[in-house]
Amino acid sequence: MNASATSTFKYALEKKTPRTGPGGITRGASVHEFPASIGIAGVSMRLEPGAMRELHWHANAAEWAYVITGTLRTTILHPDGQSYIDTFTPGDAWYFPKGYGHAIQNIGDQDAHFILIFDNGDFSEDHTFSITDFIAHVPPAIAAQNLGITVEEVALLPKGEAYFAKSAVPSIGSTIATPRPVPSLTTMHRYPLEAQQPRVIPGGGTQKLVTSREFPISQTISGSILELQPGALRELHWHPNADEWQYFLSGQAEITVFLAEGQAITEQFEAGDIGYVPMGAGHYIKNTGQNVCKILIGFNSGEYQSLDLSRWLASNPNDLLAGNFSIPDTLVSKFPQQNAFINPGRA
Ligand code: MN
Ligand code: MN
Repeated sequence: MNASATSTFKYALEKKTPRTGPGGITRGASVHEFPASIGIAGVSMRLEPGAMRELHWHANAAEWAYVITGTLRTTILHPDGQSYIDTFTPGDAWYFPKGYGHAIQNIGDQDAHFILIFDNGDFSEDHTFSITDFIAHVPPAIAAQNLGITVEEVALLPKGEAYFAKSAVPSIGSTIATPRPVPSLTTMHRYPLEAQQPRVIPGGGTQKLVTSREFPISQTISGSILELQPGALRELHWHPNADEWQYFLSGQAEITVFLAEGQAITEQFEAGDIGYVPMGAGHYIKNTGQNVCKILIGFNSGEYQSLDLSRWLASNPNDLLAGNFSIPDTLVSKFPQQNAFINPGRA
């Protein structure tokens, strides 16, 4: 799939008909539903209190998540035999390396909503390796031997994939339901992104960013929360090392994706939409609404790299710019003299 062959970089994820199961709802978009998303697939998942996304693994992608609402418990097993249990609340991120077995359960008394990002566009959360599916598809005598139960008892297990499973909310204070973490505390799998002190552009907005530098296990994905004030512009820029996947949490925005050779696509976004920018493609994000526009952004690299237009211009001699644009030096002298990152809206 050539990115320039696509006609849209927008997908209305929350308007998609969901997959539903006991206690859970999921909406996903891979490159099959959203052809532009060649390098990153995304999922919006909701779990009722007590419900879980069962024990499973992903053969072809690592998983990065951001919690919007609810309290979630995850378990994960590493191939070295170490295992980890963590608790997540709104604003926290997690990362699970490709192929590691994990589960996600809503252990709170409110519905949980979280966004999952996978570093492979040709990925489907629907087609992952689930524990019930695995056990249901080996001979019952093998399952009995492995689980230490009788063949008759094996017959009590699900006959196929559970995917979602309802359960009781575990009692708080149990040894595995740990209390709300101190925001500054990062664990192996949890990074409290919302608690981070943001980069602030006065009048323009804020950026919170987590890369493998802050969150060492997250080797293949970086994440960001970008908030733009009304009228503000995340200036023209590109990412030389990663695709960009966006989930619009609130507000409205306009984005142009520039694909070179005169090709560019400008589209309008609102809460619940996802957007995509191929690696290296030029783009901006403009808040076109009356309220703050809040965007969850994922990159398929553990390192964040960006080249911003203002910094690029400021790094060049004025006479070069005057020649490049065929304009007088007096006009070039009005250009940015330093990195802007976000341009505040004009009153
Ligand atoms: Mn998973
Ligand atoms: Mn960007």
